[in-house]
Amino acid sequence: MYFRYPNLSLNTQLVHGVFTRHGGFSEAPYHSLNTSYTVGDAPDNVNANHHTIKETIGANRLIYINQSHGTDILVLRKGQDALFENIPSADAIITNVPLFALMVQLADCQGVIIFDPKKNVVANVHCGWRGNVQNILERVVIRMKNDFGCIESHLLAGISPSLGPCCAEFVSHKEIFPDTFKRFMVRENYFDLWAISRWQLEIAGLKGGNIEIAGICTRCGSDLFYSYRGEGKTGRFGAVAMLT
Ligand SMILES: [Zn+2]
Repeated sequence: MYFRYPNLSLNTQLVHGVFTRHGGFSEAPYHSLNTSYTVGDAPDNVNANHHTIKETIGANRLIYINQSHGTDILVLRKGQDALFENIPSADAIITNVPLFALMVQLADCQGVIIFDPKKNVVANVHCGWRGNVQNILERVVIRMKNDFGCIESHLLAGISPSLGPCCAEFVSHKEIFPDTFKRFMVRENYFDLWAISRWQLEIAGLKGGNIEIAGICTRCGSDLFYSYRGEGKTGRFGAVAMLT
């Protein structure tokens, strides 16, 4: 079972889905469609889950990264086969290669798909609060522009289920957030990270009407999604984007 963004779904050159935690092979506390090998789950179960996602999407390759809350961006161009000796460390992937399914692994952080329907280039970004602080979203838009000639106003974006303003409490926000985030504080110590990402994408040049927000909080919705804050030891759900 997976969710799709209505506006992104209008583009037949793009296949995408935010998979829920259901429909996989992993046992508690990773039940059941866990995509991460690094949370303590049995590798055979994760393999089977990856296979399920790959088959559902219809991908040649399922490409994922060693996410580190940094700003490194993996760029895959036509002609590259994307066979890696080690899983690349990065927090975003950009490609113009069809049938390469880009997957980010999530449990409260945002997965942000950015798609250029004119140039047929897609990015999938892992963006937690550290990603917002380092503005990884703008960095990805700049790379799409510099490396592929994308035009910002053409880009479409979708922000996945993730920690909502109801649950995004940051008691040490004065130390970790820049002052510019203050206007996104919805009540004492609680922040609207969805609005921060929308604002960062708009500053990067995207049109407001081209940005979709799932608006589902993973901590409140841990029956459907994994939530690190809600569960601690748990899995990671997959958000996937692929050019056809
Ligand atoms: Zn919540």
